Amino acid sequence: MLMKRQPTDLAVQRVRHPLKFRLLQVKQVRALTPHLIRVTFTGEDLHDFVSASFDDHIKVFFPEPGADKPVLPEAGPNGPVFPAGQPRPVARDFTPRRFDREARELDIEFALHDAGPAATWAAQAKVGQYLGIGGPRGSLVIPTGFDWHLLIGDDTALPAIARRLEELPAGTRVAAVIEVADASAQTEFTTQAELHLVWCHRNEVSVRGEALLRAVREIYLPENGEGYVWAAGEAATMRAVRYHLCTERGVDKSRIRAASYWKQGAEAVHETLDD
Ligand SMILES: Cc1cc2nc3c(=O)[nH]c(=O)nc-3n(C[C@H](O)[C@H](O)[C@H](O)COP(=O)(O)OP(=O)(O)OC[C@H]3O[C@@H](n4cnc5c(N)ncnc54)[C@H](O)[C@@H]3O)c2cc1C
Repeated sequence: MLMKRQPTDLAVQRVRHPLKFRLLQVKQVRALTPHLIRVTFTGEDLHDFVSASFDDHIKVFFPEPGADKPVLPEAGPNGPVFPAGQPRPVARDFTPRRFDREARELDIEFALHDAGPAATWAAQAKVGQYLGIGGPRGSLVIPTGFDWHLLIGDDTALPAIARRLEELPAGTRVAAVIEVADASAQTEFTTQAELHLVWCHRNEVSVRGEALLRAVREIYLPENGEGYVWAAGEAATMRAVRYHLCTERGVDKSRIRAASYWKQGAEAVHETLDD
């Protein structure tokens, strides 16, 4: 019997998680492409790790130069409390790409780029090294039951997009528009959904973000049914993508989640785009 969908079935839910900091050790390092490194971490601290959404992020803490373990804060009543008298550890946001509680394994996929402690660490990652993580502090759970989904992003959004494609039920209509450096940066996805996949390449345009914006302008949006758009990547590009979809294509602002995962010329940026 076909069950009728209730309006609440499409409500986006916010879930809070207790703040925890965990020390993890590298179990495996694998280059998925010349531009993307998957690191599998393990550690008993993962026994109560929770990640409820593909949109989740964790803070990754890196060791100081010369140290083998990162300085980790403790969870205080008002947030992280860092040990006194020590420099604050370098931290960046990443997506929990895959988690296996039984095996105590967490995968994080790092996009390589020219400069920055996270990318530099990933390029040299070796089995046995330590990193710390904090969070996720909360999850935005976007229902899978929309009539159609549109996923948009660059290399930094690949882990979230891949995770979402894995969890969408069989037969779900989904389009993904993804910008990477060139064809060598394309990855394989596992999905049961009906996927329309558009890759665009930075090496074919002169301005960063132009290829993605052009592809988003050309993407077909179904006129009927309820849809949801998720987008993440470079700040200026995401702003332009959201503006185009909301003002020129009629996407309701409640049906789009767009985030800056990084910003040209700035370190460690995370911004959810609103008006
Ligand atoms: C919620 C969230 C989830 C994220 N998930 C992932 C993920 O799963 N995988 C992932 O790879 N990234 C992810 N990111 C993006 C990542 O946090 C940033 O790219 C971060 O800036 C990388 O840190 P870094 O130390 O390498 O560079 P930074 O020290 O932060 O920056 C140094 C310089 O590099 C530039 N830069 C930063 N990132 C890039 C990039 N990707 N390409 C080109 N130039 C860049 C900056 O503009 C700056 O000029 C996520 C970000 C957020 C907010």
